[in-house]
Amino acid sequence: MNPEFSAQTLSISAFAKASAELQGVEKLSIFSRLMEESDATALNTEVHFQAQGEMRPDSAGGLAAWVRLKAQTRLPMVCQRCMGSVEMEVQCDRAFRFVATEALAEEEDENSEEDVLVISKHFDLLSLVEDELLMALPAAPKHPSCPQPVKLSVADADFTEVEADKPNPFAVLGQLKKGTTD
Ligand SMILES: [Zn+2]
Repeated sequence: MNPEFSAQTLSISAFAKASAELQGVEKLSIFSRLMEESDATALNTEVHFQAQGEMRPDSAGGLAAWVRLKAQTRLPMVCQRCMGSVEMEVQCDRAFRFVATEALAEEEDENSEEDVLVISKHFDLLSLVEDELLMALPAAPKHPSCPQPVKLSVADADFTEVEADKPNPFAVLGQLKKGTTD
């Protein structure tokens, strides 16, 4: 890790010009929005991230600052099937192009395939890590196969009803017996 660069106040221009790389590990507990999406066992979960700066030619013939960001964590979430805790692998890998102003970023973000952000001398890379991981979260986290049996109280009620509609097997047997004696 390059000591010149801090993930929370990153000079994008200097980072890209130096083709610098920044790696880090943070506790999930510093990311409040990710914590809201996870269950109580998440406090010691780690978030790994890596950023790579680069200058690339832009369409105007100049050079634009780019940062490629990768982040990864294993987030304990609530399984939507059994409501137990399930660890979901969440990761992102995306490149961002930086432009001078917010207006330019909005305009270019709509018209280009890549994500466009506003350049800053104090860019909060950790906030971007959190944004990206939030977008990568599974909509319906589930165990591949749930460790606890799933409670099907609604299905149980249906099952009892169906059983009640069926004729009592002993009554049927009684009728058959009656038939033979007649
Ligand atoms: Zn489950």
